[in-house]
Amino acid sequence: MNRIYNFSAGPSTLPVSVLEDVSKNLTNYQGQGLSVMEMSHRSPSYMEIHANAKQSLRNLMNIPDTYEILFLQGGASTQFSSVPLNLLNPSGKADYILTGSFSKKAYKEALRYGDIQIAASSEEDDFTFIPNNDAINVRPDADYVHLCLNNTIYGTRFKPEQLPQFDNIPLVADMSSNILSEEYEVSKFGLIYAGAQKNMGPAGLTVVIVRKDLVGKAQDITPTMLDYATQIDKDSMYNTPPTFAIYVAVQVFAWLEEQGGIKAIEAINKEKAAKLYDYIDQSDLYQGTARKENRSIMNVTFRTLSEDLDKTFAKEAKEKGLYNLKGHRSVGGMRASIYNAMPMEGIDALIEFMKDFENENKR
Ligand code: PLP
Repeated sequence: MNRIYNFSAGPSTLPVSVLEDVSKNLTNYQGQGLSVMEMSHRSPSYMEIHANAKQSLRNLMNIPDTYEILFLQGGASTQFSSVPLNLLNPSGKADYILTGSFSKKAYKEALRYGDIQIAASSEEDDFTFIPNNDAINVRPDADYVHLCLNNTIYGTRFKPEQLPQFDNIPLVADMSSNILSEEYEVSKFGLIYAGAQKNMGPAGLTVVIVRKDLVGKAQDITPTMLDYATQIDKDSMYNTPPTFAIYVAVQVFAWLEEQGGIKAIEAINKEKAAKLYDYIDQSDLYQGTARKENRSIMNVTFRTLSEDLDKTFAKEAKEKGLYNLKGHRSVGGMRASIYNAMPMEGIDALIEFMKDFENENKR
């Protein structure tokens, strides 16, 4: 069967070569007579996969030795609790930059655990932009500042060069929808977390990259499973880790290495996004919904002239094999999620369809 072009925001498309390799090894991994799914997480074979996952991610993102890498469960949403439970010390204060639904959820969750304030917000303009650094008000004694680097629903992002930095206050970043998509310097963050299901592999795996000196100060009420110190001590195996998802992530990391690493995929991602935005910007029918200078290169949000036409667009696109282009239910319009594994042919096919649709629906 021909594969569709899947523009889903997540779980999202994976490299076909990875899926084929996983399927080849599904019942008999490297001739060992069993699937990775069936292996003990303490077995030498699985331990090798686990170590490989960590090392590959360290190499790809150039993660310094002063940072630990954790493979956890519970999705990025569990980190909305884990972060304050572990990092609200000594002041018990943290400041949150609100640039979309997920950073707002993270903020609301943190309110349970400490003295939390909003440092800046773009909510008054429906999260269509990223606040300028001079509009971000951070308390000098905050234990950390939280932000979401790429806003999956609204299609905005903090560019690497516009990342706010605060003296002696670690930056905590939700990187769920743009990890491994372009180069960010890990040393600019105290902690990075991301659900795997966009650029790393199947849902069920959550990656946390944390600076070692920030660990070991968890609140007493922190559940054992959520305490980074426990997870570091047990090499993310305090309980059974999501072994199969980690195994697939290793294949995705190897695929990315073959593409030339993050620098190379960043160039491709920028080319893909620019093609789509350029087409949208010259069109009379489509309109981008995010402010130009804050546009995401992973989630391209746009709309037509009416909600009815948006609905027809998504329906007719699907008939052409272009799936999941309907915008998030909270904002409407359309969203093309074009993560690392979306090939250039997918962008070209989408633009072709958009042109035809525009011709048929001219004002
Ligand atoms: N943060 C961002 C930026 C996301 O895009 C998502 C999911 O789409 C989440 C958090 C929630 O992730 P999870 O479903 O892994 O809890």
